[in-house]
This record gives sequence, structure tokens and C-alpha cells, in this order.
Amino acid sequence: GKLRRAVVNVRDSSKLQQVDHIRSVLLALVSHELQTPISIIKAYASTLARADAQWSDDVVREKLGAIEEESDRLSRLVTRLLYTTQLEASAVSLNPMLIDLPKSSQRVAKRLAELDETHELLVSFPADFPPVMGDPEKIDEVLTNLIENAMKFSPGGGTVSVEGTVEGDYVQVTVGDEGIGISEPEQSRVFERFYRASESGAGTVPGTGLGLHICRILIQAHGGRIWVESQPGAGSRFTFTLPI
Ligand code: ATP
Ligand code: MG
Repeated sequence: GKLRRAVVNVRDSSKLQQVDHIRSVLLALVSHELQTPISIIKAYASTLARADAQWSDDVVREKLGAIEEESDRLSRLVTRLLYTTQLEASAVSLNPMLIDLPKSSQRVAKRLAELDETHELLVSFPADFPPVMGDPEKIDEVLTNLIENAMKFSPGGGTVSVEGTVEGDYVQVTVGDEGIGISEPEQSRVFERFYRASESGAGTVPGTGLGLHICRILIQAHGGRIWVESQPGAGSRFTFTLPI
């Protein structure tokens, strides 16, 4: 009646759980992010195609405009998904040259400011800011993602700032906003693939949760780091470094 021997079988199921998580996130993404534009395109196209109706030019133009906008959204989503898969599958290929970060930041900020009038964009770099080696297209993409987020997650407007500093062997660029912020436990998670923080009203603000993941892959490929500091309700500051 005594226990003489026990057989213990331990299995690590974390990989399986991870796969499960990715699957459910993908399903949610497909059902929401893909379904919404598809429904809108379908509805507008079939309205316009009705044989028994006559539409004024204004109505036709408005509906075609919406179809175009939703197609852009779909195309952006698919491109991002493919791009992430590509970045993860192979080492990122960089096309490095000397970049003038103050100039790139100005250019990206100006382009995004034209699409949004509720935010004030401030770009400030010291006069002696050095040029750095990097792939200009990839760095533009990182700046675009960070500034877009800063605007998107400060629905009340406010200032979005892009500041550069030199720290020893590195340059540092910070994109700051006065928006909704990110809670402490979620700050380390927002760089994960598909992760969207709960307070951002993930269901209402459009997005895929891939932007920061792509930023991290690109910055690490340049030998830099990226992180966030944030105060929920007061704003966020995303910083990346690049070696000089
Ligand atoms: P996508 O960039 O793919 O269109 P997204 O903006 O939701 O979608 P990420 O850019 O990866 O995805 O950001 C992930 C999440 O981090 C966001 O959903 C949001 O919850 C949070 N986040 C990112 N930037 C900010 C910010 N500036 N302020 C507050 N929350 C932010
Ligand atoms: Mg984003």
C-alpha cells in the first residue's frame, strides 16, 4: 500500500499556447479589419450597380471615394501582413547610406501634418546633429509609424514632438504626444506582433498592431534600440537609438 515509484511526465505547452494565441489574434483581425472594408465596398458597389436606380454625380463620386478609401485600407493591411512575414523569415536587408535625420523627420512630419489638423507638430534637433548610417526608406517607415501612432492615440489633439539628441556613440530620436498613454504592464507588450493596448479602445481605432513590431525589427537591424515611456492619461514618448 506504499507509493514506491512515480512517473512524472512534464510537457512544455507554451509553444502550443503561443500558436493558439497567434491563431485567435489572426482570426479576430481577419474578421474585423478585413470584414469591415469588404462589407463597405460590397454595399457601395452593389448600390451603384443597381439597374433600377439613377444616381447623381455627387452620390456616385462620394460612394466611389469611399470604395477607394476602403480598398486602400485593405491593401495596407495585406501589405503589412506580408511585410511582417517577410521581415521575420529573412534577415532584414538594408540599403545603408548617410541619413540626415533632422531633414527626414521634418519631411515625414510635414507629410503627416497635412492629413491631420488637430495636432501641432514640432520637430527639434540640435544644430550639430551628426549624420548617421542607415536605410533611409526603413527609417522613414519607423518615423511614419511613430508619428502616426502619436496622432492616432491623442484624439484630443495637442502637440506631437520629434526631438533628437546625441548620447555618446548614439543618436536618440523621441516622438512624444499628449494622448491617452499606455499602462505600465502593457508598455513592454506593445512591440509584440498584433498587440494592441486595451485603453486605446482597440475595437474603435483602426489598426493591426503591427506598426511597432515592424519598427522594432527595423531599428534592431540597424543596431539600435527602441522603447516607450508613458503616463496613462498624460501621453507617451517613444524613443529609438541609432549608432553614429
Ligand atoms: P497599425 O500601426 O498596424 O496600424 P496600431 O497602431 O494599433 O496598428 P502599433 O502601432 O503596433 O499598432 O501599436 C500597438 C498598440 O500600442 C496600439 O494599438 C496602441 O494600443 C498602443 N500605442 C502605440 N502608440 C501609442 C501612443 N503614441 N499612445 C498610446 N498608445 C499607443
Ligand atoms: Mg500604429
